[in-house]
Amino acid sequence: MNPTVDTIIIGGGQSALACAYYLRRSSLDFLVLDDQPEAGGSWRRCWDSLTLFSPAEFSSLPGWLMPKSKGKYPSRLEVTSYLKQYEQRYKLPVRRPVKVESVCRKGQLFEVQTDEATYYARTVISATGTFQKPYIPHYPGQETFQGLSLHSSAYQYPQPFTGKRVLIVGGGNSGAQVLAEVSKVAQTTWVTLEAPSYLPDDVDGRVLFDQASARYYAMQKGGQPDPAQYNLGNIVMVPSVLEARERGVLKAVPPFEKFYEHGVVWQEGTKEAVDAIVWCTGFGYALAHLECLQVVNEKGQVATEGTRALEQPGLWLIGYGGWTGFASATLIGVGRTARETARQVENFISAEFK
Ligand code: FAD
Repeated sequence: MNPTVDTIIIGGGQSALACAYYLRRSSLDFLVLDDQPEAGGSWRRCWDSLTLFSPAEFSSLPGWLMPKSKGKYPSRLEVTSYLKQYEQRYKLPVRRPVKVESVCRKGQLFEVQTDEATYYARTVISATGTFQKPYIPHYPGQETFQGLSLHSSAYQYPQPFTGKRVLIVGGGNSGAQVLAEVSKVAQTTWVTLEAPSYLPDDVDGRVLFDQASARYYAMQKGGQPDPAQYNLGNIVMVPSVLEARERGVLKAVPPFEKFYEHGVVWQEGTKEAVDAIVWCTGFGYALAHLECLQVVNEKGQVATEGTRALEQPGLWLIGYGGWTGFASATLIGVGRTARETARQVENFISAEFK
């Protein structure tokens, strides 16, 4: 049997590393298990041209600022390189590739089954992100559609769409950015539930973070934030989206009604042939490994207070979104949540085991 460790962190992206950074300053022994062959979490697998929304100095994990980027915003590869160096700099104990298949209770411990070995831990921090749980809404007739249907998590670059008729579905940043580059090589239609809302040209993702912070603090003080005050828009006008606006392609239409085998049928009944659909429709939460603990609810989330699971002592979840701590799904936001998580884990172990 493998020795029991105090903590196993599942996942090896930015959320896991931020927790590991704080745990290494404690007396706890811990391991990070990541199913990817290299450092970088989901940034390794996003589309090639993706950049951050904010400059490097506003996109850093605790302890060490992201090095200044070549362009205004760090590229995807600059982020993965930062995460790799971060791991090395702090000698974080990451094992990869190790996929955690299930986490079950074994008395006071957790039994962590992986594709490599079985581990035992006093506490578990789940930091598996959202990328492995792409969300695609259902439309009637979808199964009959014979064209290509691709989620943005599998989209890499525009060239395979050259000369094709492509629907881009989704009115967020992913939709706008994928549309911006696919529209250069293909005939595109942008489908959004509501009219897209854009941030002013001269601000970037920092504003989204500031808005979220202001809303969070207003709510903490018991206030009911005025949406008009905080909702400036959500699409950041990164250079590719600005350029797409210049070309006049940022025109969205409401959703179609259903699919037929060669395309879609619009609300008013007209049929349109389509070669491919790119779904920029977001993600759920990659929590299949927690099934055995019976904590995942109908929303696909776990009931938490901050990052602590309410129904399973010794389990924490981080990085999935607002329900696992304020701004915990961002590079700059996860540090604060990670510090508090590490503090709680340490207290739990000294109260229950030492
Ligand atoms: P991930 O990066 O997904 O890491 C989780 C890791 O766990 C992965 O390596 C995964 O393979 C692994 N894993 C999953 N399941 C298992 C398992 N069972 N066993 C072992 N390992 C497992 N944030 C910003 O701060 N600024 C931005 O500008 C920004 N832009 C974004 C743009 C896009 C298009 C997207 C999708 C996100 C963006 N984000 C941005 C959000 C955020 O930074 C990312 O979602 C971030 O990757 C979340 O980090 P994470 O560590 O929680 O998850």
